[in-house]
Amino acid sequence: MSREKEWIDRLEEEKELKQEEWEALFQYWLDHEDKELLSYVCEKGKRVKEETFGNKVYIRGLIEFTSYCKNDCYYCGLRKSNKEAERYRLDEETILDCCEKGYELGFRTFVLQGGEDFFFTADRIGELVRKIKGKFPDCAVTLSEGERDFDTYKAWFDAGADRYLLRHETADEAHYRLLHPDSLSLENRKECLRNLKKIGYQTGCGIMVGSPGQTARCLAEDMVFMKELHPEMVGLGPFIPQHATPFADQKPGTLEETLFILALVRLMLPKVLLPATTALGTIHPEGRELGILSGANVVMPNLSPSDVRKKYLLYDNKIATGAEAAEALDSLRERMKAIGCEIAVDRGDSPEL
Ligand code: SAH
Ligand code: SF4
Repeated sequence: MSREKEWIDRLEEEKELKQEEWEALFQYWLDHEDKELLSYVCEKGKRVKEETFGNKVYIRGLIEFTSYCKNDCYYCGLRKSNKEAERYRLDEETILDCCEKGYELGFRTFVLQGGEDFFFTADRIGELVRKIKGKFPDCAVTLSEGERDFDTYKAWFDAGADRYLLRHETADEAHYRLLHPDSLSLENRKECLRNLKKIGYQTGCGIMVGSPGQTARCLAEDMVFMKELHPEMVGLGPFIPQHATPFADQKPGTLEETLFILALVRLMLPKVLLPATTALGTIHPEGRELGILSGANVVMPNLSPSDVRKKYLLYDNKIATGAEAAEALDSLRERMKAIGCEIAVDRGDSPEL
């Protein structure tokens, strides 16, 4: 048996590898893109997922409530220096309306995601969360709106928010610097994640696969960081260049590498909630299905009003920018059925709570 397969077997058994082993495994992957090793790990990822979650796939209704952002991350189409980006904010009524529609369709988690837009003050978001939880008490609210201070996160949690998604993007200091301007720091990002955990959120971190400058060493650091943080969720999708950013001409992350890492994360954190992301569905027509077959167990259909979807362009060619939520959900249900999976209707909390 190859050294790489032995590591994967041991990962399944012990749920961890040493940083040097991770690095050598990723280096081997980057050098060979070994398809046989990929199926070996994806097969295991799928099996481990089924041991906890069976054939259930959880759905989260994504509401992209603002495309304004005060940050300037080099990879992202919403960065403030992108003068081409069309900016919008949804008002409270529209957001509640999206939840209402989503609720009727069977969604029991709403994910409010946006750029870092301080028009949405701590109070405004707190009030919004309170209203959503008041109207839909059986639903979970996930927030994903970037970095705020401890007290703000705490206030939102006290208002009823259940979960928070904040990808760490990379656990490697030099790589973080390559992806972000000086106003942002890995130190603060990690601090935010630790605060979220401390407050009691089901917390999600994550990375873009194949982001510019990502090496085997960065990925090894990511795995070690994720093991240490022990997140309830991990958001992981391919980097996709956006034409109006400094990374317009960079290569996108690949389907294969994303599946490889999804499966490895499943083996390391068997109970984690792991979305097959929209970005994965964007780089390959069956990306999300393949993600589910490699260990992912969540999908996040878009509940934003269709007229704003074309304006929330983190990256190019994002899928389903025109589709209505209901129609997209029907097609998703069919797609999941075709691979033997069933969409769950409960909130789908982390099984480790
Ligand atoms: N502003 C918040 C949430 C919105 S961005 C935040 O930054 O946390 C959500 C995620 O989109 C980011 O964490 C990043 O990982 C991803 N993203 C941004 N630009 C991308 C790109 N070009 N390709 C793939 N994913 C991207
Ligand atoms: Fe803003 Fe998030 Fe995009 Fe960075 S990744 S520019 S914080 S929306």
